[in-house]
Amino acid sequence: MSNKYGIPEDELKKIRARDKACVYCHKAMEEYSHAKGVSKDKATIEHLNKDGPFYWNKSIIFDSSTVAICCGSCNSSRGKKELLDWFKTQYCINRNRAINENTVTELVREYICTKKYLKTFTIDQLSNQLRQLIENSKWTFAKTMPGIPHCYIVKDNLSEADKEQFDELKWFIRKNGYAENFYPKQYKYFNINNYKYWLVGNILNRATT
Ligand SMILES: [Zn+2]
Repeated sequence: MSNKYGIPEDELKKIRARDKACVYCHKAMEEYSHAKGVSKDKATIEHLNKDGPFYWNKSIIFDSSTVAICCGSCNSSRGKKELLDWFKTQYCINRNRAINENTVTELVREYICTKKYLKTFTIDQLSNQLRQLIENSKWTFAKTMPGIPHCYIVKDNLSEADKEQFDELKWFIRKNGYAENFYPKQYKYFNINNYKYWLVGNILNRATT
C-alpha cells in the first residue's frame, strides 16, 4: 500500500488490523503493493474527512480515527464527496452493495456521528454560542446502541459557560422542535444540516437524519 501521507508504519499496521475488509462495502481486499493506479479490489488509504489535512499529524484531526482502509472501487466512487452525499449515489444504493450510515463499519459510523466540522450552518436562528457548543463539543459515540448510531454530550461534563448554552439549546429545541417517538417515549427533535438533535434529561443526542 503506498503511504504518501506520512503515516507511521506501526500506526498503519494498527489501521490495517482494524479494517480487514473495506470499511464501506466489507469486501475482502488484496494487497498489490507495486500495482499502479486503482484496481477495484485493492486496499487503499481513505480519509474520512474529505477536506484533509492529509498529512499525518496526531495533534490535529488526522489520526487513526479519520484514516481507514477501503477498496479501490469505493475510494474512487466516493472521491471528494461528503460521506452522507455519497451514500445517496447510485453506487451506494445499488442493491448488491447497500452502503449507508447503518451498514458501514463502526469506525465510519462513529466518524459521521462525532464529526466536529460542520461546514455550513443552515439554521440562522442559532446564536454563535450555540453553534460553537455544537461544533466544539467532544461528541461521544454511543457504543452500547450500535443499532441506532448516535452520539451525545453530557451537560455535567461541560464548562460553566457551556452549561448555560446547553440549557438555552434545550429550550430552543423544546420550542422549535418536532415530536417523534424513541422507543416508548416521545421527544422533541430539531434538525440542523444532516443531523437531528434531541435531549434526554441532561444528555444531548445527535444522529444523522
Ligand atoms: Zn468497498
